[in-house]
Amino acid sequence: MIQTIKRSLISAFRNLPGKSVGKKIVVIECDDWGSRGVPSIAAYQKLKAAGLPMDSSRYAHFDTLASAQDLEALFDVLSKYKDVDGNPAIVSPFFNTANPDFEKIKANGFTKYVAEPVVDTIKKYAQGDVLTRWKQGNEAKVWSPEYHGREHLATAMWLNALQSGDEKVRTAFDYHFASYSPPGTPKAALNFRPNFYVESTDDMLSVKADMENGIALFYEAFGFYPTVFNAPNGVFIDGFDQYLLGKGIQFNAVPRQRLDRGTDGQYRYRTFRTGQKSANGMTCYVRNCNFEPTERSYAGINHILSQIQGAFICGKAAIIGTHRVNFVGGIDEKNRSQGLKELDQLLFQILKRWPDTLFMSSKDFTKLL
Ligand SMILES: [Zn+2]
Repeated sequence: MIQTIKRSLISAFRNLPGKSVGKKIVVIECDDWGSRGVPSIAAYQKLKAAGLPMDSSRYAHFDTLASAQDLEALFDVLSKYKDVDGNPAIVSPFFNTANPDFEKIKANGFTKYVAEPVVDTIKKYAQGDVLTRWKQGNEAKVWSPEYHGREHLATAMWLNALQSGDEKVRTAFDYHFASYSPPGTPKAALNFRPNFYVESTDDMLSVKADMENGIALFYEAFGFYPTVFNAPNGVFIDGFDQYLLGKGIQFNAVPRQRLDRGTDGQYRYRTFRTGQKSANGMTCYVRNCNFEPTERSYAGINHILSQIQGAFICGKAAIIGTHRVNFVGGIDEKNRSQGLKELDQLLFQILKRWPDTLFMSSKDFTKLL
């Protein structure tokens, strides 16, 4: 009990800065949709046998494309819970809109990176009619996609590693797994996951072009443009928000601290508060709650309930950050059922403790900023 009160107070203190909305709003932002992750159980087993650290994190073990069944199961849980206005709980999935085109990159002998649009990835590799489920989720108001960068991959660094002939990077490539980086990779670029980690200024132009192209691919996939951007792994590039603004994205969902590349090429932490505008006019808001029910350290919903309470005490919306890896069962169905069981409990407890809670998409929430 004392622990819970202490946690709520700490959370309230951290929520003091920034713009208040004066209503109890819950926004669930879930990252990593569209990216291939671990292609299959067979790939996971082969790569593990080849000595790759496939059990080093739940991303290397369980994260994979969502199937139609995964989406149905998620939507079922969300639609069970309605707020005072009758709106269901809603997830805003943050999408990567391209993956490496492994066949084409192999054919060109690793000389050039080639992107595969997310719709092609889904058609080729996802189980069941995922594209129809996306539409149904939108119509049922339980699903409202946003943008997470084109790839969840530092493409230039990855291509360099492939060109260098690193044996494990090549083995991973053979099984269409891109999230492995050899020893010596900077910590901030671990497993080549941050799309906006660049080592050379020469790569800046292509990263900018890819980011803009990713927004066009988003439109192709969904028929509308994203409202909010969130940078993969909390790593971004100073000033690049002007190009997002140029493409109509006016909001960034951010961690309290994001690692931004400065003009000197160094990455440094930048602190944010909700409602803050960047020098270029980008409005930022902070994700102030975390929900990672399939993380090893996860110890039940009390922690996040304290975070939500802390936000509400300060008149802030509860912006919950979470990841696809919690809700997919393609590698192990138990992973999905564990994540959904906790989500179910969380939504139940939110409405029980705060019956006047409003569920909102990221898009609707930004209208209040
Ligand atoms: Zn991510």
